[in-house]
Amino acid sequence: MHVINLVVIGYGGMGSYHARELIQEVDGVKVSGVYDCDSSRLKMAQQDGFKIYSQLEDVLSDEMVDAVLIATPNDSHKDLTISALRAGKHVVCEKPVMMNTKELDEVLLVAKVENKIFMVHQNRRWDNDFLIIRDLYQHPKVGELFQIESRVQGANGIPGDWRHLEVHGGGMVLDWGVHLLDQLLFMVDSKLKTVAADLSYVLGDEVDDGFISYLTFENGVKAIIEVGTTNFIKLPRWYVRGFEGAAVINDWDLSGKIVKQTGMIDHHNLVPIQAGQGLTKTMAPPSEEATTTLAIEEIAPDFDAFYYNFYDVVRNQAEPIVKNEEVYRVLRLIETIFEAGKKQEVMLFE
Ligand code: NAD
Repeated sequence: MHVINLVVIGYGGMGSYHARELIQEVDGVKVSGVYDCDSSRLKMAQQDGFKIYSQLEDVLSDEMVDAVLIATPNDSHKDLTISALRAGKHVVCEKPVMMNTKELDEVLLVAKVENKIFMVHQNRRWDNDFLIIRDLYQHPKVGELFQIESRVQGANGIPGDWRHLEVHGGGMVLDWGVHLLDQLLFMVDSKLKTVAADLSYVLGDEVDDGFISYLTFENGVKAIIEVGTTNFIKLPRWYVRGFEGAAVINDWDLSGKIVKQTGMIDHHNLVPIQAGQGLTKTMAPPSEEATTTLAIEEIAPDFDAFYYNFYDVVRNQAEPIVKNEEVYRVLRLIETIFEAGKKQEVMLFE
């Protein structure tokens, strides 16, 4: 096996997670060093047993280094990626791939000219909750899905420092938004038609602390994507409806349920219930015979799939699981969400 020596650039929260956890499990990819512009982070990397580089130039001129992982604040992804590609290194880049599509155009051109691999770490394609919903989309146990609501809601505000600043690519659209939008576009096999969005500035930061986006696809699927950081009561992680039922997944613990119609609704003999100051048949719960509840079956994710695929792409010309045209489309959607939010208009997604 021709091992790929990879240097982690940016040993913060995510870079150190790649180095200590994600890459450790993968045959064929080895963390051969760490570079961070902050000496305290370098010290930590050294204590964790990694070789350290005190200058970027030393990484780029080291012929033993085959690849780098870029895990630095979002605004630095472009320059670091281009320098690495030009130095003949393959690049894995953290999400969001770049700040905008103009930057991504530049990077993809350099990758092509240098004939090096550039891949983006869209790790949440392997989240258990997403895999369950994607399975419902692909094997319509509750009929074809026509409504998909995907949310993450916290109450701790925007974490850290650079995530508050526009110049660094802060804000929640570029942070969690990227994951939820990537999952949605990866799952729904249809052209995206329209985009509307509300950006939230509850915290008074210069960047969005959350957003809600309403999306429609040509095949009739409608989606709501929502990220919040000031939500002291959370809505479920997923709520989806199909023509024969619905599913809810509350959280990453995968609690929730899938409810399927049995076709045994007796529309003529519905019994009204007392609701507030009135009676209703419409809003009465379905009778016991009308529905059946299915178990949420976990689909084991392959946690190492990303880096094994990276190895295969680099060494064996395999097809990347995360394709650059896919991340490009997500970035274009993000630009459209910002525009739709600012103009308060429904935009066509060209
Ligand atoms: P962080 O602030 O914890 O770490 C960033 C590190 O980069 C710091 O140690 C900092 O000193 C270093 N750094 C900054 N500029 C640098 C430069 N020019 N050269 C070298 N080092 C530099 O941030 P984080 O949470 O680890 O986020 C880093 C990246 O990872 C972001 O792009 C973020 O969106 C992404 N991320 C992805 C996931 C995921 O699930 N895929 C999760 C968290 C973060």
